[in-house]
Amino acid sequence: MSYFSELGLAEPILRALESKGYNDPTPIQRQSIPALLEGRDLLGIAQTGTGKTAAFSLPSLHHLAKEPKGRSHRGVRMLVLSPTRELAAQIAENMRVYARYLNLSVNCVFGGVPINQQKRKLQAGTDVLVATPGRLLDLIEQRAITLENVEIFVLDEADQMMDLGFIVPLKRIASMLPKQRQSLFFSATMPKAIAELGARFLNKPVRVEVAPQSTTAERVEQYVTFVSQSEKQALLTLKLREIKPERALVFTRTKHGADKVVRVLAGAGIRSAAIHGNKSQSQRTAALAAFKDGEIKVLIATDIAARGIDIAGVSHVFNYDLPNVPEQYVHRIGRTARNGADGIAIAFVSNDERPLLKDIEKLTKVKPVPMPLPKGFTEAAAQLPPPAKAPERPAQGRGGERGASGGRNYGPKRDGEGGNRRRRRPGGGGGRSGGGGRPGGGGGGARVGAHKDSVKRVG
Ligand code: AMP
Repeated sequence: MSYFSELGLAEPILRALESKGYNDPTPIQRQSIPALLEGRDLLGIAQTGTGKTAAFSLPSLHHLAKEPKGRSHRGVRMLVLSPTRELAAQIAENMRVYARYLNLSVNCVFGGVPINQQKRKLQAGTDVLVATPGRLLDLIEQRAITLENVEIFVLDEADQMMDLGFIVPLKRIASMLPKQRQSLFFSATMPKAIAELGARFLNKPVRVEVAPQSTTAERVEQYVTFVSQSEKQALLTLKLREIKPERALVFTRTKHGADKVVRVLAGAGIRSAAIHGNKSQSQRTAALAAFKDGEIKVLIATDIAARGIDIAGVSHVFNYDLPNVPEQYVHRIGRTARNGADGIAIAFVSNDERPLLKDIEKLTKVKPVPMPLPKGFTEAAAQLPPPAKAPERPAQGRGGERGASGGRNYGPKRDGEGGNRRRRRPGGGGGRSGGGGRPGGGGGGARVGAHKDSVKRVG
């Protein structure tokens, strides 16, 4: 018997967990499940990778199964709101597994796909609905669903919801929920505005906090290369050639930037794909699947698209552009070094990004190890082939760009990709200054929160 059984979860749920190979609850599960089984509200400060999906799913499924109500026409018993399509799909996929031995229905709706099929599926009601806010409101407006019977409400990634400008839709949705309900509110960070938002939804919540941000990525070796904006592309190409990473995630600040990186890499014979808000759902799904299968080893992503996605075995994270918000850096590098594996994070920092690097160092209390530009960089960069041409298509306005991706069509579509707008900074520019210090790649990168000799603490 696993420790899960001691938490009081129903037998079919324990069986599902066993088939998944989960033996012990993660800290957030251990802390949340008993309170949630008692029907308490919950304020969870945790990021993806902590096991928070099971933390909110297991006790909720237990409750829904224990008190079968019969589905009401267009009704929903449990509503889970997610900021992005990928995260919504992932939550629903996990919940279906946890509910596999229960007679409960789990549906998932998000934008970017036809609405009619979703309407048909929801007509008879659903036990669990995982949704993004925009599509949920569309479905409510078209009278395809009603929230008046919601018993459990989960708001996931609240900070990202705010960043994406979902605050007004959220308030609208909240106003449609019955007063009598259980509410769960998760956020990776808890600045004042998020705490205030939480207070609107929650009633005397239990507060659970796991793995403070600055210690989540203890095993990540961190490096920084100082390079001008215009030389970043060549640096990435040469680094990828040199390292031949098992699975590399490259973060760019903009959707356009992500597509451009894909084209340039394609020109140099390196297959990659981009995921961002201008891609259609099927393109994003295909790109992710190709990356997970190892068919492509390099995935270029913007923060929004990558948020919450669980990709195992990422060996390298490249911060092609530094994020505007320091916490985002921790999210990004947390994508590698999961499940006890070591990971490497390399940041490309131009002169005008140095203040952002300072902010990151202040937050993480770690100074990434300088990794100088490769020997003969300028000459090698000059010999790189030109970018692959973008496929024929008018490149105008929304949805106008299309990235080459090794022959696959990962073209764009619309989305409300908001990004982090806490601080603006000018783009481009910045001279090179190959940082001195130790050469990279020797396994001596700075680690967030680690107490190693190699770690230089700052701030
Ligand atoms: P999450 O933070 O919900 O995205 O979960 C992160 C990863 O941990 C997912 O791949 C889950 O399937 C996995 N996971 C969740 N709970 C457990 C557990 N108790 N034991 C092992 N793996 C788990």
